[in-house]
Amino acid sequence: MIVLGEVESLILKIDKFLQTYSGNLILNADDPNVARLGKSNPENNNIYYFSVEPYKFATKDIKEAGEGKFCPFCQTRLLYDYYQYSHIGKFSCPSCGFGNNDIYKKAYNVNINQKTFMIDDIEFKTQICSIYTIYNFTASIACACLYKIKYETIQKALSTFSLHNGRLETLKIKDTSTILNLAKNPTGCNVSLRILNEDTSEKELLLVLNDNIADGFDVSWIWDINFDNLNNVKRIITSGKRAYDIAIRIKVAGFDESLIECYNSIEEAINHLYSTNTKKYVIANYTALQPCRNALLKYNSLK
Ligand SMILES: [Zn+2]
Repeated sequence: MIVLGEVESLILKIDKFLQTYSGNLILNADDPNVARLGKSNPENNNIYYFSVEPYKFATKDIKEAGEGKFCPFCQTRLLYDYYQYSHIGKFSCPSCGFGNNDIYKKAYNVNINQKTFMIDDIEFKTQICSIYTIYNFTASIACACLYKIKYETIQKALSTFSLHNGRLETLKIKDTSTILNLAKNPTGCNVSLRILNEDTSEKELLLVLNDNIADGFDVSWIWDINFDNLNNVKRIITSGKRAYDIAIRIKVAGFDESLIECYNSIEEAINHLYSTNTKKYVIANYTALQPCRNALLKYNSLK
């Protein structure tokens, strides 16, 4: 039997489970693929939706590949007031009304630079901040509130929470600011590039792409990554087993090929990356992430 991991097959599996589930369910109201799960069991009265008001870089048109263009209940094309990223945003179905849910917790006044946002007149300050982490935090806050955890406790937890696993991790490598992030599908890579593009400073990018079993042998998903209009990127280095595939993808997007370098060896790529002290962004896919992180730390420890 072939098990497909495509978005729709995953939704259907979760939906099947939820048909007989009546416990608390916290759902992203701004993602049609998630919000639809609120209808899996009409008897469940414990469904709580969260949402995030449009942030500074929200757009009227979709900028990246999306996975939810049509209403799952009546197949009408969904209408969007705005997109936050990918297909996440304020949507509604003009035919059956899907998308009009009561919101339990809504984040607003999102300030990516200040790393702050508000919910219920309370300001939250975080260590890491991008539009998708705001969604994750809002989901966590909705959950914490359901279980009566005080805002003061949540504020304290969020203000000190940081990741050390290569997921939007900030590193200093040889005194050069480096932001490392995992991207294992087009949406993940597009949000990483969104973070890069929202930063106006000069930067260089390292992309590491493997095609091991856990990554999937098929790397055609890289053609759904939006490499158009990279903001102030001075050089791109590619590495990993499929360094040349990702380099071709970037070249086809229109990036100056003379500014692209390919090295299959991650150590070699990192050596070349730090030949300048320009700010670095590093994006690595699933099996590439930890070897890349280890190589960065090892390089940093070299005298
Ligand atoms: Zn509909």
